[in-house]
Amino acid sequence: MTVDLVVVGSGFFGLTVAERAARDLGLKVVVIDRRNHVGGNAYSAPEPETGIEVHQYGAHLFHTSNEPVWEYVNRFTKFTNYEHRVFTNFGGEVFPLPINLGTINQFFRAAYSPDEARALIRGQASEFATGESRNLEEKGISLIGRPLYEAFIRDYTAKQWQTSPTALPAEVISRLPVRYNYDNRYFNDTHEGLPVDGYTAWIERMADHPNIDVRLDTDFFDETQEFNKKAVVGNVPVVYTGPVDRYFDYQGGELTWRTLDFEQEVLNVGDYQGTPVMNYADSAVPYTRIHEFRHFHPERAEYPKDKTVIMREFSRAATRADEPYYPINTPEDRQSLQSYRALQAGEPDVFFGGRLGTYQYLDMHMAIGSALSMFENKLKPLLSGRTE
Ligand code: FAD
Ligand code: UDP
Repeated sequence: MTVDLVVVGSGFFGLTVAERAARDLGLKVVVIDRRNHVGGNAYSAPEPETGIEVHQYGAHLFHTSNEPVWEYVNRFTKFTNYEHRVFTNFGGEVFPLPINLGTINQFFRAAYSPDEARALIRGQASEFATGESRNLEEKGISLIGRPLYEAFIRDYTAKQWQTSPTALPAEVISRLPVRYNYDNRYFNDTHEGLPVDGYTAWIERMADHPNIDVRLDTDFFDETQEFNKKAVVGNVPVVYTGPVDRYFDYQGGELTWRTLDFEQEVLNVGDYQGTPVMNYADSAVPYTRIHEFRHFHPERAEYPKDKTVIMREFSRAATRADEPYYPINTPEDRQSLQSYRALQAGEPDVFFGGRLGTYQYLDMHMAIGSALSMFENKLKPLLSGRTE
């Protein structure tokens, strides 16, 4: 079989590239994935007993303000009008997130106006100047003041990162907004929603093209399979979305990741927590949050009324055998990454992309957006003409 492009990894990055190369350029593309399903971490499947769609690698909420990405994803799926909201349990009491006027007034048992709340928080936050924060703790206090920081951020963050907030970079919480009104939508993007018939249906439609050959349970480094690294690199262009350190056999050092453990349970109640995601701010609770999947699709009338599926999420440092989820990005990691960038320069026919290939946390819309740019700017100029 003649193949024009090999894509390693069937997550959103890999499938976007494969879809564009097949549909736009008419190329023959082989996509390999070591898992037994397509979709990477966005994969979801119905829980067998209840039929409730469960996101197998943690809850995935789609949101974007990028118009070309929104237009692109709408070719494969319609979206519901789901809007994400998160609550947090602190000391046995439930508060709305992100921190907003509702959270502030409940916490201080007050009825502050926006200006009064702003003045209060400004006073409490004056300990550190935001621009000069040396770590997450200083940044958190400079944004919301010490009392709110200690209640909602400090212990949750320590649980999630297994590291003291004084040793974490300030950027980790720069995306956590504070609002001086009662708006508790989690995301600020123009477009938001969940795929009407689920993530897997969306992903399978991306891969559904006669020129795309998907091979599951296939590891790129397994030399017994046809499209392995040794056989392919140098002969066919490769888009590689696996871990960059693995590609180079860890010769620049091992990049560190956080992984998650999920504990899933079917309960004999129609509604366990009344909302999709409940965070647990206290250090005494070992998990960071509980997801209740029925609430992601309130429009699905077929879901049972007397059963529900919940998933507790626990966070810890990943070993080589675990799924890498979030890059930890220590100073040593950044140094390793530089050496991998230098090694990549010696592999002109291999294009590194996606969250594992670039060692970057990417939301789905970012992974798709960066795959579309790689296709237009690098792959299309290289590959157009190959079918003639
Ligand atoms: P992946 O989806 O990780 O795909 C990479 C694929 O490569 C995998 O299928 C893997 O099996 C395969 N692979 C790796 N090595 C090899 C090999 N050697 N041989 C063959 N195949 C290989 N984004 C949002 O927009 N909203 C959210 O709410 C959201 N929540 C998230 C929650 C969690 C817990 C996590 C971890 C991520 C979340 N994301 C979310 C991010 C989203 O998962 C990513 O944007 C998306 O997965 C990126 O796609 P990707 O193709 O880069 O990587
Ligand atoms: N965070 C926190 N308390 C919360 C929610 C978030 O301290 O209740 C902090 C925490 O440091 C976390 C960061 O904000 O790592 C980003 O949280 P978000 O929920 O947006 O990220 P996710 O874990 O879903 O990727």
